[in-house]
Amino acid sequence: MLARRYGIWALVAALLAIALLPLPDFWITQLNYIGLYSLACLGLVLLTGVAGLTSFGQAAFVGIGAYSTAWLTLNTGLSPWLTLFIGLGLTAACALMLAWLTLRMSGHYLPLATMAWGLSLYYFMGNLDALGKYDGLLGLQSLHLFGWDIGQGRGFFALTWTIVVLAALAIVHLLDSRAGRAMRSLRNGTLMAEAMGVSTLRYKITVFLIAALLASVSGWLFAHFQRAVNPSPFGLKMGIEYLFMTVVGGVGYVWGAITGALLTKLLEDQLQVLLPQLIGTSGSYEIIIFGIVLVLMLKYLPDGLWSFVDKRLPRAKREENWADAPALPARAKPAPGDLVLDVQAIRKQFGGLTAVNDISFQIKAGQIVGLIGPNGAGKSTTFNLISGVLSLTSGDVVFRGQKIGGLRSRQIAARGMSRTFQHVKMIADMTVLENVALGAHLRGGKGVASAMARLNRDEEKQLFHEAQRQLERIGMGEFVHELAGNLAMGPQRLMEIARALCSDPALLLLDEPAAGLRHQEKKALGAVLRQLRAEGMSILLVEHDMDLVMDICDHLVVMEFGTFLTEGTPTQIQQSPEVRAAYLGTEH
Ligand code: ADP
Ligand code: MG
Repeated sequence: MLARRYGIWALVAALLAIALLPLPDFWITQLNYIGLYSLACLGLVLLTGVAGLTSFGQAAFVGIGAYSTAWLTLNTGLSPWLTLFIGLGLTAACALMLAWLTLRMSGHYLPLATMAWGLSLYYFMGNLDALGKYDGLLGLQSLHLFGWDIGQGRGFFALTWTIVVLAALAIVHLLDSRAGRAMRSLRNGTLMAEAMGVSTLRYKITVFLIAALLASVSGWLFAHFQRAVNPSPFGLKMGIEYLFMTVVGGVGYVWGAITGALLTKLLEDQLQVLLPQLIGTSGSYEIIIFGIVLVLMLKYLPDGLWSFVDKRLPRAKREENWADAPALPARAKPAPGDLVLDVQAIRKQFGGLTAVNDISFQIKAGQIVGLIGPNGAGKSTTFNLISGVLSLTSGDVVFRGQKIGGLRSRQIAARGMSRTFQHVKMIADMTVLENVALGAHLRGGKGVASAMARLNRDEEKQLFHEAQRQLERIGMGEFVHELAGNLAMGPQRLMEIARALCSDPALLLLDEPAAGLRHQEKKALGAVLRQLRAEGMSILLVEHDMDLVMDICDHLVVMEFGTFLTEGTPTQIQQSPEVRAAYLGTEH
């Protein structure tokens, strides 16, 4: 996923060589188009590859950039260098409006909405008199810089590819940052990211905006390169083609965008010569071939062609050293014995099923409280109600003296409650360190712009320092640079605990942390939880391993069929006839 740091230098060297070689003008022109496509595809890498939002509307944003500069330079005489920014502003306004309308949609609705958007903008451009209808606008000026004509040939090549290289570099930097990790978490649904305090809607909108702006720059360049605009390069067909290029190249890789643009353009040129000879008529039949290739790619090579190269490249080591980074500020913790959590008759109904039926209990600072009960008793649902993942049907939750009943999970996370999940939720293609650093999201503040300009390194070191500290605390120091997806189940669960600890919580909710752990790992987990308690941490634990529960919990709450059965010390619970009946009646 993370593009290799030195890839950019290989690209720059290749581009310089091309510029200096005596290549025919035809090839320079082709490379110019490839650069323009690459820009739009870079946006799709962020949008579709990183954030998992499929868009067929990328060409429409290219169109907004192109038409803005065309109309403005022709009608107002403004310099193209100024209309670039006006076009970007217009694109941003359209993108924000569209994002606001569509990004709450899930599944197939978003791609469909982007198709509708791509189509309507095409007809809008084609039917407006002021934009020259389907004939478009002609006679645009060529781009000049300090008197140089850089609108064609090698001048344009230098301009376009400088922009491509800078954009690729900015995205590589972005993906390796606090904001980038939040964006990379979007693909796996919003649950975990929100629980780590990430505003997923805000990051989706940001990603959408960046993708649209890259397309708009491509459109601006395109308009002045062609010195004319008409609606056809900005319609739905081209929107599909941009997605095609990106998927073929590798939608999850920054370099996949450039690979895809390059190969598609070369293939298209060949097909435009070959197909009419084969079929006997001319027309843009290459789109049919593209469709077939796309289906085959999605089935057999969903990671795209760049994945072959990526697999063979050595993994770039982080050269930064964060051992001396200052510690992140910590929140004020409750005094030992203070009431931390007061669960007041919470209830959850799923249709006719009452999964949690008026459950009440309390947790004091420095306590480990176990929530136990047979499978389906409602423990995970109780967890989700307390942490704000599910909304309460009735009842309330008071956390450190504040009602948190109606709050969203990320607002609750911000107040100092953190959790793990019964089914591990992680980003498999990020390292363990990066996954854990996501837990410290709310303790950093650097955004997209400082990440792109690499002005975020001090804060990043602090975040990594904290992530590494929490991993070592939990005995995972040796896995820091491993890809999370390569971990076994046990270490994955421990990683989730380290991630939760990274948020500097006052209360930790652990949903079956020992499931899938080996005996030694369970013992180590018990030791870690005891140590956390000794440091004043309060913990709510759902766990099936009764030895562990009885061994480390101060207090137990027992549920059965969504209702409260009993509570007490582990010894009291072990001797309770009701509890024995509940367990003997079901699983034991
Ligand atoms: P536990 O964690 O104690 O095993 P859960 O809280 O996962 O139990 O589930 C309690 C009950 O609620 C089960 O009967 C389960 O099928 C039901 N349930 C849980 N989540 C949902 C949901 N999203 N929609 C409908 N029913 C649910
Ligand atoms: Mg459960």
